[in-house]
Amino acid sequence: MEHLDVLIVGAGLSGIGAGHAVQANCPWASYAVFEARDSLGGTWDLFRYPGIRSDSDMYTLGYSFRPWDGDRAIADGPSILRYLRQTAEETGVDRAIRYGHRVVRAGWSTADACWHVTTERTDTGEAVQLTCGFLFSCTGYYRYDHGYLPEFAGTGRYAGRIVHPQAWPDDLDTTGKRIVVIGSGATAITLVPALARTAAHVTMLQRSPTYIVSLPGRDPLADHVRRMLPPRLSGPLLRWLRALTTQGSYAFSRRWPGAVKRALRKQVVELLPAGYDVDTHFSPHYDPWDQRLCVVPDGDLFAAIRAGTASVVTDHVDTFTEHGVRTRSGVELEADIVVTATGLDLLFLGGIALSVDGRAVDAGDRLTYRGMMLDGVPNLAIAIGYTNASWTLKCDLICDQVCRLLAQMRSTGMRQCTPVAEGCSGPTEPLLGLTSGYVQRAAGRFPKQGARFPWRVHQSYLRDYLALKLRRVNDPALAFTNPVGDGSPSTGPDGGTLSSLPSVTARFRRAGDRERSPANEVAPADAGSRAGAGAGRDGRG
Ligand SMILES: Cc1cc2nc3c(=O)[nH]c(=O)nc-3n(C[C@H](O)[C@H](O)[C@H](O)COP(=O)(O)OP(=O)(O)OC[C@H]3O[C@@H](n4cnc5c(N)ncnc54)[C@H](O)[C@@H]3O)c2cc1C
Repeated sequence: MEHLDVLIVGAGLSGIGAGHAVQANCPWASYAVFEARDSLGGTWDLFRYPGIRSDSDMYTLGYSFRPWDGDRAIADGPSILRYLRQTAEETGVDRAIRYGHRVVRAGWSTADACWHVTTERTDTGEAVQLTCGFLFSCTGYYRYDHGYLPEFAGTGRYAGRIVHPQAWPDDLDTTGKRIVVIGSGATAITLVPALARTAAHVTMLQRSPTYIVSLPGRDPLADHVRRMLPPRLSGPLLRWLRALTTQGSYAFSRRWPGAVKRALRKQVVELLPAGYDVDTHFSPHYDPWDQRLCVVPDGDLFAAIRAGTASVVTDHVDTFTEHGVRTRSGVELEADIVVTATGLDLLFLGGIALSVDGRAVDAGDRLTYRGMMLDGVPNLAIAIGYTNASWTLKCDLICDQVCRLLAQMRSTGMRQCTPVAEGCSGPTEPLLGLTSGYVQRAAGRFPKQGARFPWRVHQSYLRDYLALKLRRVNDPALAFTNPVGDGSPSTGPDGGTLSSLPSVTARFRRAGDRERSPANEVAPADAGSRAGAGAGRDGRG
């Protein structure tokens, strides 16, 4: 049976970054990327609707090791996909990808100190078994086979076409058509101006408004910095600059929501025609960042409304009719096409069924360690990005941390690394702290966060940078053990003295002296990171 040191699941933005990190920082580790689809890029390959684009800036959505060099700060989907493909090719990660392999099950065996993984070939349905020392899930956070679609009455009698943005048909001609887009999230506000360029008219039908901010599609400051500095300096500088300004504006919004509400409203008023009913259509009932703030580049949505090619109706769908959609207030919106931009169906860990020593793991019952591992689950990391900033910012940090853990285990002969939330009491909160419907619907299936670090997810790049880059990797909440007891680097589920995780963990705890546990032996590969490790000794939950 094949054995890999690291199995990365998913060849999207995170999986490609993870592959690069493993081969650059742990060149001794064998690894492969198992991808269920036949192509890489994940989100940026799946979504094909008109106008698909980023809603965070590319200086932070791009990788730290290969800064975004495109013209636009808010880039279109095809450019992002091109960037991901080029990155995979240039780094050689593309050669490690095994397409058409869906990982369906992974069971940790303490006896073997490895994962027993079952994958399914999507072409033949054949099951393929393998083992790996470390499982790195880069599966994103939603189902790929379908989006979220509430049950609407009357769809059977509707004569037009109903389309979900997650499965945009190649043959759909929207030119000259009357289109209703149901929804008010990032996808709806992206679609509306894009469709309005050629459609007869586009109506955005929303139940309730969303906060929208208009930002320049080209970033003048970034253009200036890139003119002045070579790429090796401008890339990191812009990334830090944009990471900190995004985080600063988020922190400001949470601290002074009233001021931010007023500023956002003022911008919307300026961008809409005089007398427009801003209160009904663009004044949400929640605080900014209770739900993700939507970005429009160069005010494109408002330009379409000004031009009369798009309009907004704030009401509920009562039923589909033969010719369109009737709202609860009795208005009939006639449409040749209805786009249900009703969101994603969230899925944790790409639907992989997890178990540890034969016991199923319900992720909904577990705390997350530093937002990247699960309490009581050895040798598993999960790439989950920020909800208030670019996904890549956090995933880059997680990749770095995973590589440090791997190096630490290798140099100390440890084969198992398990977050242990012992003594971590107090209320728990959902991992993704947004009030949006799609997040709330899935909250029970996602892990939780605790009250304090390292079980708390701060959604702050600066804090995570300090915690994940500068603290020691072997903190007391992680139990490093070698249940097979051979003291050698992991090579597979072969031989060794069997020893159960709890007893080994207990041995370390009884010693009560972190400096004497094997996990705290000086690790040459980690020595650099130890230099700044003083802060890691205290201030933890
Ligand atoms: C329309 C849209 C726009 C977005 N815009 C932004 C943005 O501007 N900024 C931002 O920060 N975030 C944005 N996001 C969030 C976005 O998903 C992330 O930025 C990022 O692309 C996620 O990358 P990922 O690799 O973690 O996951 P994904 O892109 O979802 O890739 C996951 C990959 O894993 C594969 N996979 C899943 N399960 C399995 C399995 N069991 N076995 C094998 N393979 C599996 C999938 O096939 C897929 O290829 C957006 C999301 C959407 C839907």
